[in-house]
Amino acid sequence: MKVRFYGVRGSIATSGPETVRYGGNTSCVLVEAGDQKLIFDAGTGIQRLGTELGPTDVDAHLFLSHLHWDHIQGFPFFTPAFVPGNQLSVYRVALSDSDVGIRQALADQMQPPNFPVPLDIMGADLRFWDVPEHDRIRLPHVEVIPLAVDHPNGCVAYRVQRGQKAVVYATDLEHHEGEINGGLVELCRGADVLIYDAMYTPEEYAGEVGMSRKGWGHSTFDAGAAIAEKAGVKTLCLFHHDPGHDDVFLDGLGDRARRRFADTVVAREGLTLSL
Ligand SMILES: [Zn+2]
Ligand SMILES: [Zn+2]
Repeated sequence: MKVRFYGVRGSIATSGPETVRYGGNTSCVLVEAGDQKLIFDAGTGIQRLGTELGPTDVDAHLFLSHLHWDHIQGFPFFTPAFVPGNQLSVYRVALSDSDVGIRQALADQMQPPNFPVPLDIMGADLRFWDVPEHDRIRLPHVEVIPLAVDHPNGCVAYRVQRGQKAVVYATDLEHHEGEINGGLVELCRGADVLIYDAMYTPEEYAGEVGMSRKGWGHSTFDAGAAIAEKAGVKTLCLFHHDPGHDDVFLDGLGDRARRRFADTVVAREGLTLSL
């Protein structure tokens, strides 16, 4: 499998000279599993991915962790979705009974006056799947296992398993101090790569720097390292960078994290991991 990053930022796209090395686009990760293309989240990074994949002969599966803006705003700009003949399946785990469904949620963000054309105009063969919480998604030679995690309005982490290789995409989740999330450890068990929400430093999270970020739904490299250690993960990949953390800050964050868990990388646009 191959993992390639198209958007690594959290909350809001952050362009400018001080974020040019790690990149400013919001969440979007491509996992190539054999012939299958699995995309995780449709933040602004998916626009570039669409340009690289398209315009024609696109057959992809898009998994949404949740529906916050930074994970769906790029969807109306994913040009392969507009081209007849392309195939795109969109999956999202429905976490509440009041859920409007994934198709409606994506159509809503394209309603006037917020967007000029409706979702109906997308000409590709689009399929929308509201996946029950404990179901696994099975594609040829690939299994995707979801797990609900703690985040305002809910969020889902995914494990992609192909043969003996596995990558876990776990963003927008909050840890609980002094506790280890047993379900998440199991999801990550023996994974080759864990992509983890490391939005805050431990000091920011605790409120020692600025206001406390407890309850905001995000985590730290320290909590990610604890999961990686406990689960026997090979590589920890720090993800969902705070818009206020520039390139120099993220260099330092990586150095700190590597002292805690040696095989740590900091996600940046264009980074490719082979496993
Ligand atoms: Zn987010
Ligand atoms: Zn979120």
